[in-house]
Amino acid sequence: MKSRIVFLGACALLLGLGFMLPQQNTEVKITATHVAGTVYMLEGQGGNIGISAGDDGVLMIDDQFARLSEKIRAAIRELNKGDIRLLINTHLHGDHTGGNAFFGKEAVIMAHENVRKRMSAEQHRGERVIPPAAKEALPVVTFDEGLMVHFNDEEIQVRHLPTGHTDGDAIVYFKKANVVHLGDDFFSGRFPFVDIDSGGDPQGLLKNITQLIEELPEDVQIIPGHGPLSTLEDLKTYRTMLEETMATVRSGIAAGKSLEELQKAGLGEKWQSWSWQFISEERWIAILHRGLTGK
Ligand SMILES: [Zn+2]
Repeated sequence: MKSRIVFLGACALLLGLGFMLPQQNTEVKITATHVAGTVYMLEGQGGNIGISAGDDGVLMIDDQFARLSEKIRAAIRELNKGDIRLLINTHLHGDHTGGNAFFGKEAVIMAHENVRKRMSAEQHRGERVIPPAAKEALPVVTFDEGLMVHFNDEEIQVRHLPTGHTDGDAIVYFKKANVVHLGDDFFSGRFPFVDIDSGGDPQGLLKNITQLIEELPEDVQIIPGHGPLSTLEDLKTYRTMLEETMATVRSGIAAGKSLEELQKAGLGEKWQSWSWQFISEERWIAILHRGLTGK
């Protein structure tokens, strides 16, 4: 019994660190799922990767951690022998841009202008200090509102979302395939990270998601930043979670409760399963509290 507990503890520890420490040396498998048309979703470790593979070659969305680049490149070659010509970053975080220096040798990297701006400078996230990225890792084409890409017989709409997960978020919609990659504005079935230090805001995130639910087709398939391939129904559940947990924390603040008291009270039974190794209920409450109070 004791050894089993120790084993489970070790697993929990490995899982917990897996997301946070990109240098961790566990065996990561890259799996590809065909979504629709030319579009695939790749999962390994870190943010989900979107791929369009076709006659023009490959367009890639996000690239996980640097140490996985060779493996990811091999998995993409299984789908298409052509070059990776374009790489879109949905935002700046290392679990979405860690492979930039590797893939940037082959592809033109595109992102919102704030991604290039923030990656070019030293970044601060809480206690963590992240040095400026190497020149090869920086986006070459930047945009403000968005742009259209005509590739693989698709109309690919790249659009900036206002302040949400960060201040440089972009989503990518494949019109023909009816698939959208929402980057980290969408953590499917789990509490999201909102990077307030990089210009993010939980209230802005809720606004973005509400807007998207109005705009996206009923039968759209959604690649979230984290979590499984999802539907509009899943996005609606996520919005309900954002609304309800934000309301709980907001009314607690109005009643004069401290962050510690709010964390002790929790968010109720309904959202228990949304807690995960990276964003626990406690951490989500802290993010909401900081977003709502500015402290
Ligand atoms: Zn992120």
